[in-house]
Amino acid sequence: MDAPLDRINFLKDEINKSNYKYYVEENPYLSDFEYDKMFAELKELEEKYPLLKTPDSPTQRVGSVSEKFFPYTHKYRLYSLDNTYNEQELEKWYERVTKECGNNVDLVCELKIDGLAIALTYEKGIFIRGVTRGDGITGEDITTNLKTVKAIPLKLFEPADIEVRGEIYMPKTSFEKLNEENLKKGEKIFANPRNAASGSIRQLDSTITAKRDLSIFVYSSVFENTLNAPKTHYESMMYLKKLGFKINPNIRLCKNIKEAIEYCKEWDLKRADLNYATDGVVIKVNNLLFQEDLGFTSRAPKWATAFKFPPEEVTTKLLDIELNIGKSGAVTPVAILDPVQLAGSTVSRASLHNFDEIKRLDVRIGDTVLIKKAAEIIPKVIKVMENPEHENLPEYVPPTRCPACNSLLTTRPGEVNLYCENDSCSQQTIAKIEFWVSKEAMDIDFIGPSIIQQLYENRFISNAVDLYRLTMQDFMQLDGVKEKSAYNMYNSIQNSKTRPLNRLLTAFAIRHIGKETAELLAENFTNLDEIMTANIETLSAIDGIGSKMAESVYEFFHNENNLHLIKELKNLGLNPASKAVKKSDKLTGKTFVLTGTLQNMTRDKASEIIKELGGKTSSSVSKNTSYVIAGENPGSKLDKAQNLGVIILTEDEFLAMIEEDL
Ligand SMILES: [Zn+2]
Repeated sequence: MDAPLDRINFLKDEINKSNYKYYVEENPYLSDFEYDKMFAELKELEEKYPLLKTPDSPTQRVGSVSEKFFPYTHKYRLYSLDNTYNEQELEKWYERVTKECGNNVDLVCELKIDGLAIALTYEKGIFIRGVTRGDGITGEDITTNLKTVKAIPLKLFEPADIEVRGEIYMPKTSFEKLNEENLKKGEKIFANPRNAASGSIRQLDSTITAKRDLSIFVYSSVFENTLNAPKTHYESMMYLKKLGFKINPNIRLCKNIKEAIEYCKEWDLKRADLNYATDGVVIKVNNLLFQEDLGFTSRAPKWATAFKFPPEEVTTKLLDIELNIGKSGAVTPVAILDPVQLAGSTVSRASLHNFDEIKRLDVRIGDTVLIKKAAEIIPKVIKVMENPEHENLPEYVPPTRCPACNSLLTTRPGEVNLYCENDSCSQQTIAKIEFWVSKEAMDIDFIGPSIIQQLYENRFISNAVDLYRLTMQDFMQLDGVKEKSAYNMYNSIQNSKTRPLNRLLTAFAIRHIGKETAELLAENFTNLDEIMTANIETLSAIDGIGSKMAESVYEFFHNENNLHLIKELKNLGLNPASKAVKKSDKLTGKTFVLTGTLQNMTRDKASEIIKELGGKTSSSVSKNTSYVIAGENPGSKLDKAQNLGVIILTEDEFLAMIEEDL
């Protein structure tokens, strides 16, 4: 048996290492079982030998109750940063910097985490104090609470005397989970992850803090001993990482302001994919001597600036609630807004989800509402802003009849939407045709919503099948359609006749059958007739097709109307065989992942080509991925590919690879 001190030290090191691996490197080291066992043993030993209990012991992370937080005056002031909002302001700031320090001043870009700023003090590598930023001069001592944050090291890998600053944050997913749980318990709902983080870290009962999923990114330091101190900010960040601190992995060294502006643009687009909130980019002069030369204004350093991302949320007036009838007959409310600028574009419509949501938010026409935009998603109404007029506005009453065909709306079990069940409803039919021509389904170019509207209103078409009967002369009778575009429209419809089976199945818009399930069906049957004659057992025997889906497919192909339309389609020359015809084996055994916007083709088209050449596409990057094709503004998949060492192709490289087969 080891001496108690040796055993305690061993347990402390193992548990601290496990915390570091898990919470800083996000790479598990001990199993939960081993961890719990060691933790219990350490606790027992410390109770038996209280004198051996030290401030860097992981048992200090469980928290305790305090009566109040004590004010603490910072040894070094925590300055705030001046904000910049656009390229011109960034360039002006850089001009002032280079005027003082000469041309070509290196910069470091870091994401500005939207959390709570704190300062941590270490003496000989041991965490001794943690204080909130407060007003920058005096903050509150929240050491006990900060010890419960497992990404904060209690003991550094080197016995450094150092003060570091960082931002405490709550991951977005944990924030949502916390709110969900609180909602169930009837407790307080936090407005955003920042409030949740700051509310959690400032609990007088730090055992509550210990239960919240909080983390930290450290972003600067003050060295007590300047002898071997780093010469640049970037070096100092790498040193902090070496000491055991968690720094944000998206830090980047930039040669000049142009590169820094690129970084800002890049992250404005990519930030929605991150699991933590960021509201901007902090840009710092890298050379610490330059930083000293530049100095401070009364409030902020001259050697740094905070670039703020354009807001993703904005308030505006709700002018009306329009009803949209989808291809399935679902009637959904759409907010018509007083046009407003949001994240770089003008927004005049936003989603209201469904009528339950309107009721929950108590949205009334005339209200001022908060709308939010996340990347690539249409903006949605988040909440009603408090306003005295609200009470005088009439409550919104959901419709009982279809606004297009006046039939009574129904509800379906287990669904929140209202439905128009009339198959010949005009709006529903138009929505079905719009879906038929969409990129996701038959991918027919040149036929937009206004053309479909005109064709339908002038009785050229009454369903999607009729599209294939249209002549060039028909198109030329429409408003403003000249010979050239009539030719394009006609041609593009005729060309779509050769689309593979999975696309036709998608275009049918069968209930519960989306693009992926349509692909599954196409893979398991050779042609349309085989699917049409399959019984429910055969259909549901396919891996990935549940009984609900099987029933829905069966019903669709046993409906008189549908059978009639399919017969007409066949007469018009649409009867695709299964699977895109395989052209070669060039990509056999290769798995591709697509990310970002491609210039020469849609991602769907690229996947089709890959399949034709025997390859596979997948939606997520893993070590089994052969290639990632990265278009413009790629998402987090690119970062993952880089981490896993997966080969990354540009669109041009991909095109060169398949050129001879196109
Ligand atoms: Zn209707």
